[in-house]
Amino acid sequence: MKSRYLVVGAGFGGAVTARALAQNLGASVLVIDERSHTAGNCHTERDPATNVMVHRYGPHIFHTSRQDVWDYVRSFADFGPYTNRVKAHTPRGVYGLPLNLLTINQFFGRSFRPREAAAFLESLGDKSIKDPQNFEEQALRFIGRELYENFFYGYTKKQWGCEPTDLPASILKRLPVRFNYDDNYYGSIFQGIPRDGYTALIDRILDYEGIEVKVSTRFTREMKDEFAHVFFTGPIDAYFGFAHGRLGYRTVFWDQQEETGDFLGNAVINYTGSDVPYTRIHEHKHFAPWEQHEKTLVFTEYSKATEGNDIPYYPIRLERDKAMLAQYAQAAGSEEGVSFLGRLATYRYLDMHQVIGESLDFSAEFCSATTSGKDTRAGFSNVEKLAPA
Ligand code: FAD
Ligand code: UDP
Repeated sequence: MKSRYLVVGAGFGGAVTARALAQNLGASVLVIDERSHTAGNCHTERDPATNVMVHRYGPHIFHTSRQDVWDYVRSFADFGPYTNRVKAHTPRGVYGLPLNLLTINQFFGRSFRPREAAAFLESLGDKSIKDPQNFEEQALRFIGRELYENFFYGYTKKQWGCEPTDLPASILKRLPVRFNYDDNYYGSIFQGIPRDGYTALIDRILDYEGIEVKVSTRFTREMKDEFAHVFFTGPIDAYFGFAHGRLGYRTVFWDQQEETGDFLGNAVINYTGSDVPYTRIHEHKHFAPWEQHEKTLVFTEYSKATEGNDIPYYPIRLERDKAMLAQYAQAAGSEEGVSFLGRLATYRYLDMHQVIGESLDFSAEFCSATTSGKDTRAGFSNVEKLAPA
């Protein structure tokens, strides 16, 4: 009788699931990751030259409105106060993002109050678009052409490598438009960054009796037979050996430079114009405002199509991807004894709090079914999350 579970991937999805299995079922769990470290894309480490905490796969700001998720992460780490206030370097000057009352007033040279600004933006929107079907239509309907072209068109084309008309409206819906002076990038109730970094946090989640972690270990499908159940958080197309083709992903890469003092004056500045080749610049020490560093690390971020061994970062979800995804969803549904969890395995644009929340919910259901003696080989693929949207 196989009693051991296998979790593939030591990011938030894998770590939260492994912890629940070990803690709630007293299970023995092997967690493997092909990288040489834990924490997946949230991996952080101190740069030896500057002592700045570097977010190796891009800056990660934790935010959530789920009290249980906030309590969960804070039970493993002390969070420092951080509010993301992004600035946009546009062809017309530097403004605050997300679009808020200050941005609107400064951009149009006005001094609107909230209701006037809302009415003004409504007047700019293209009312002939009744039911926006893509990113561009969503923008033109709700903010009009001038704001769209200055803040979104160039950045989105660089970030996704296609016309915004080919992208789902849901990508733009990530960003709010505010008719007050709140320039907090996120609308979540809770926000912060773990003082010792995400890797320390995730290592604490994984530090529990029954959990064994092996890094630099790649999953192959033959391993499946050795375990009672597999929880897979890698890319779903890779799991099936790309049998139905490769799902589209964008990858990002950075030019890193060391400077002294304050280089940007902010943690993040987005470059929205098509004439600038990069999308944004990050200065990592500003993500830890409670720390003092004379030296500073500056990362200039570029986006490109994924090829070869590039890390898949952003699921694109073009029409061709959705058709392919439907085939993978079918295959996943018939794959007994495997659950597909997290950003890559469900091919969705998920933030950390969403991955943690879903992993907590899913593992609670799995543990409860197991405790009550149900057969969990089928019905726990999590395939419903794969539905193309
Ligand atoms: P991952 O962290 O990707 O973990 C999956 C792991 O599986 C990886 O470590 C990988 O090595 C491993 N793996 C894959 N295949 C195999 C295999 N065959 N064998 C063994 N191991 C394998 N979210 C926020 O909330 N705030 C932010 O500010 C934010 N910024 C982001 C910036 C960027 C550039 C990106 C790309 C994402 C950002 N996110 C942010 C999202 C966040 O990174 C994800 O929500 C989170 O990492 C998802 O966790 P996960 O466990 O699903 O996946
Ligand atoms: N976006 C944009 N201009 C900006 C910031 C964002 O056009 O200055 C668009 C872009 O398409 C991006 C999407 O809005 O992919 C979501 O932005 P977010 O900041 O959430 O992206 P992430 O931090 O996940 O890369």
